[in-house]
Amino acid sequence: MTGWSGGPVTAVATCVLAPNPGPMTLDGTNTWVLSAPGADEAVVVDPGPADPGHLAAITRAVAGVGARVTLILLTHGHDDHSAGAAAFAAQVGAPVRSWDPQHRTGEAGLTAGESISAGGVEIDVIATPGHTSDSVTFGIPGGILTGDTVLGRGTTVVAHPDGRLADYLSSLRALRALVDASDCRNLLPGHGPSATDPGAMIDAYLAHRQQRLEQIEAVLAGLDRAELGEQELTARVVETVYADVPRNVWPAAAASVQAQLAYLLDPE
Ligand SMILES: [Zn+2]
Repeated sequence: MTGWSGGPVTAVATCVLAPNPGPMTLDGTNTWVLSAPGADEAVVVDPGPADPGHLAAITRAVAGVGARVTLILLTHGHDDHSAGAAAFAAQVGAPVRSWDPQHRTGEAGLTAGESISAGGVEIDVIATPGHTSDSVTFGIPGGILTGDTVLGRGTTVVAHPDGRLADYLSSLRALRALVDASDCRNLLPGHGPSATDPGAMIDAYLAHRQQRLEQIEAVLAGLDRAELGEQELTARVVETVYADVPRNVWPAAAASVQAQLAYLLDPE
């Protein structure tokens, strides 16, 4: 393990680590509290699972920086990021804004390219579909909050069919360009430790995807695809290409393989 336990990472961003570790959630979900030094308001990104102890820990962290929550944002709708959002919103009296309307508690959603000013922080909304269709990244001074688009270690899943590999690769390239063009020095992921070289992390993710695609193409070249149904084909690819990952993440690998097969058949 990395010993990641959350805490302050930048002048405006503090992580409260949720107690839900697992093969897909790594050390647990990272809930991010954003508040500029001296500000009396705070933004909470991804309240995490519906765990009363965790929600109380977020409230303590916000009080610890002398603020109160005025806005809750979601990087995407997966339960480990969003399940506690409505309860937390009710506790603190702040709205939830998300890309997917079903997770919002008010009228306001999120729009690509908009800038939200809250907690004394300018938060840029960057659409980064791919892990899921509703995935967004939040740009803050000096950093990006990537949700599950880029994790602190390991790789993420492209959750086929909602998540699409073509979208995911475009999103990674867009983030890479954004990092190049800005003073972004911190990657604040949805799971796993923060990183201080976002460009290198994104490059590694792009290289990993390319490597997996090449491995899958090699497996496909050796199979008679007309003979195999989609499930059988997916299973063959997973057991060959993902032989190096623990079996408890094979179901997730199967989702990524289906996304990659869909991409290879139709790269648009
Ligand atoms: Zn997710």
